[in-house]
Amino acid sequence: MSYYIKNNSRTLSDLEPLIEKIKIIGKDIIAVHADNVDQEARFPLEAINALKNEKLLSCYVPVELGGMGLSVLEVSKICEVIGAFCSSTAMIFAMHQIQAAIIVHHGLSSKFFESYAKELVEKQFLLASATTELGIGGDVRSSICAPSFSENFLRLEKQASVISYGAYADAILVTCRKSSEASRNDQIEILVKKEDYTLKELSGWDTLGFRGTCSNGFVLNAKCNIEQILPVDYAEIHRITMHPFAHSVWAALWLGIASESVRLARSAVRIEARKNPDLLPPSALRLAEVDSVLFSMRGGSYQAINEYQQYLTDKNAEAFTNFGFTSRINNLKITSSQLIIEIVGKSMLICGISGYRNDSKLSLGRLLRDAYGASLMVNNDRILGQSAMTQIMQRD
Ligand SMILES: Cc1cc2nc3c(=O)[nH]c(=O)nc-3n(C[C@H](O)[C@H](O)[C@H](O)COP(=O)(O)OP(=O)(O)OC[C@H]3O[C@@H](n4cnc5c(N)ncnc54)[C@H](O)[C@@H]3O)c2cc1C
Repeated sequence: MSYYIKNNSRTLSDLEPLIEKIKIIGKDIIAVHADNVDQEARFPLEAINALKNEKLLSCYVPVELGGMGLSVLEVSKICEVIGAFCSSTAMIFAMHQIQAAIIVHHGLSSKFFESYAKELVEKQFLLASATTELGIGGDVRSSICAPSFSENFLRLEKQASVISYGAYADAILVTCRKSSEASRNDQIEILVKKEDYTLKELSGWDTLGFRGTCSNGFVLNAKCNIEQILPVDYAEIHRITMHPFAHSVWAALWLGIASESVRLARSAVRIEARKNPDLLPPSALRLAEVDSVLFSMRGGSYQAINEYQQYLTDKNAEAFTNFGFTSRINNLKITSSQLIIEIVGKSMLICGISGYRNDSKLSLGRLLRDAYGASLMVNNDRILGQSAMTQIMQRD
């Protein structure tokens, strides 16, 4: 197998000291700026700098290269914690970790990527992703653009309709066809460093939610060394990392958003209960109901993430060619992106007008707007379409 597998025997409880530290950063820094990040649709600079200060941008890099060597389960847990404080910060952190995982799983056999991983630890580079392209929509497994080669260099132009925090990244991982003769799904992935590319803005990012991700569209023009091409085909990167890792960390951060809405709903019920201690507020029943939905979301999410973690730990290459696992990861995405809307919506009913107001401590407006982004990040219909095909092919 060409991808790096860690031997990680830690449990989530070993992560507690780090989680406590992140919760403090979350309360003191990330949450403080979250509303302004949303209102101004601005990059959460304070939050990302605070995470960099704790060397968290390299938390997935193996210990022997200077990182923390965390597992996908542990990274997911961190995404969940950050998600409760600021959805945009959590999404940026999660998307960066997907790119870091691609380098760790698929790049370390190359001198260039090994040394880049060490540099990532030292300099806390922020990595973005350019898969979406004008003309192919959200079909990650297709590209139109292709590199042209000259000696050891390549040039690439991509009409990238969405690159989250593209203007703030230190490098971008870009998918493209292998060559101008290759078919659309015969793809490679290239790491282009800030000094290798220019970005010309194609579109702005004035959206309903995840406003701080600053996911503008750009024309990306890059020239770089051919050693910056990841040493395996994108098809493999997608199967082993991009698809399962992305849906794991996304689901985890959506869980963080959903948990925060339930926390606010619980505060609302407590306020009601204090007003009349002899009578259980009617909203307590709704709270019990939404808490059970959150329980299902959490259980389903961590079941799938644990399965992925197990396959990585067991070096189970077979699992990644089994359509059953692909379907379960698709189910993780579909289910959690639907449950987040249900949970935040139910929390709104409990908080009532306080949740509906933008100027209240129990406001749920931002969380509800963010929640609706989940089903569009790789459209749920597109994913259901893939799952429909794999239903017949998967081995029981
Ligand atoms: C917050 C956020 C951040 C993002 N960040 C990035 C980023 O950093 N880099 C990046 O590359 N992309 C990013 N994206 C883009 C994202 O991953 C999708 O590629 C993009 O949102 C797809 O756009 P779309 O909905 O127009 O296209 P499509 O997915 O093409 O969907 C358009 C419509 O066509 C339908 N449709 C299309 N194909 C099918 C099919 N096969 N089966 C069923 N229905 C179909 C869909 O249901 C939908 O109604 C981000 C998106 C969001 C919301």
